[in-house]
Amino acid sequence: MTIAPKIGFVSLGCPKALVDSERILSQLRAEGYAVSPSYEAAELVVVNTCGFIDSAVEESLEAIGEALAKNGKVIVTGCLGAKGDLVRKAHPRVLAVTGPHAADEVMQAVHAHLPRPHDPYTDLVPPQGVRLTPAHYAYLKISEGCNHRCTFCIIPSLRGDLSSRSIGEVMQEAETLVKAGVKEILVISQDTSAYGVDIRYRTGFWQGRPLKTRMTELVRALCELGEGEGGLWLRLHYVYPYAHVDEVIPLMAEGRLLPYLDVPFQHASPRILKLMKRPASGEVNLERIRAWRAICPEITIRSTFIAGFPGETEAEFRQLLDFLEEAELDRVGCFAYSPVEGAKANALPGPVPAELREERRARFMAVQEKISRKRLKRKIGKTLKVLVDTVDKQGAVARSGADAPEIDGVVYIAGAQGLKPGDWARVKIERADAHDLWGRIIA
Ligand code: SF4
Repeated sequence: MTIAPKIGFVSLGCPKALVDSERILSQLRAEGYAVSPSYEAAELVVVNTCGFIDSAVEESLEAIGEALAKNGKVIVTGCLGAKGDLVRKAHPRVLAVTGPHAADEVMQAVHAHLPRPHDPYTDLVPPQGVRLTPAHYAYLKISEGCNHRCTFCIIPSLRGDLSSRSIGEVMQEAETLVKAGVKEILVISQDTSAYGVDIRYRTGFWQGRPLKTRMTELVRALCELGEGEGGLWLRLHYVYPYAHVDEVIPLMAEGRLLPYLDVPFQHASPRILKLMKRPASGEVNLERIRAWRAICPEITIRSTFIAGFPGETEAEFRQLLDFLEEAELDRVGCFAYSPVEGAKANALPGPVPAELREERRARFMAVQEKISRKRLKRKIGKTLKVLVDTVDKQGAVARSGADAPEIDGVVYIAGAQGLKPGDWARVKIERADAHDLWGRIIA
């Protein structure tokens, strides 16, 4: 029989703090920890503090001091933890400090300093969990649901409004993935740039450090995980072109964040975008693209569009083609409008017949193919860093930073002896078509 690790718990403050304590204690018990009635018998102590008035601050700091003196291993949570670095200034020896409503972060700190007891059922699962992607890349989901109500989409009615995961939990997951050998993290959600809006950009904690639940702050923290040897590719998907997206472009220019942005524009005609209930217009989007390229010329922009939306006229469709020619996006997907059951757009006047929707999609893709061919041709003669996905007798299939797995192109490497999936390599590009590149290894 395994002996349960013992944790001491001090709960101070109001009923809201008490509920937090209950949550943490429930989670501790659920994971097999035991609660110790004394500091001496505990292997670690959690102090849930109050910071409401001066006397409460004093009482909390005293309790932390007492726990440190009698036990030595102390994790601090609660309202006092959210008051700047007051706790660390008074007690620099504490193991971790979190704010209130931070049960997940507290559990992460407990796991880091007192590993969870062995569970014969779940311990067969590796720390990074069970993943369906190859070992060298992984998806990192930062939120669920969506606050938009695009008329062609039923996701909000299926998954509800935006619900952001705590930044501490997301960072912990990313850290575990990197430790497990993942070299590329793909940040996903329904609306990545809205991360944290639902919880008013609440301050969370990672490694005892306060972090705002916001896309820019998350991306900056994720970049730190890539500062070790070999590097880490961080790829952002489903980023809506809100103004604050501009904040991450300099990180791309500095080489810390992969210069790749997946931005679903959907259309370019202001009237159709309005009918779709999408923010921004084609013109604004063009300006954005120009500004991003001015800061980071090597940025790869991927997008998706819908052709044949209800009411779309030939002139409006041409406006979309003009946008495409002007924007010269690198990677583009286009869907013929599909009347998903339950979508508001189905009731709009002037539905476009199915054959015409399909014809417009094909015309759209023909225009994009020319653009894509032209853009890929520019890479001939260049040396690119690639990540190897598969290897066989003929050679290897890899991807450059401009290629997301499954949806973009690949880089074929002839005679790639010695390479294995998950390896980084440098490849000199010799040939290109409208989707893929071919090259050879540079030593
Ligand atoms: S299309 Fe995207 S942004 Fe629009 S409602 Fe659906 S999930 Fe939200």
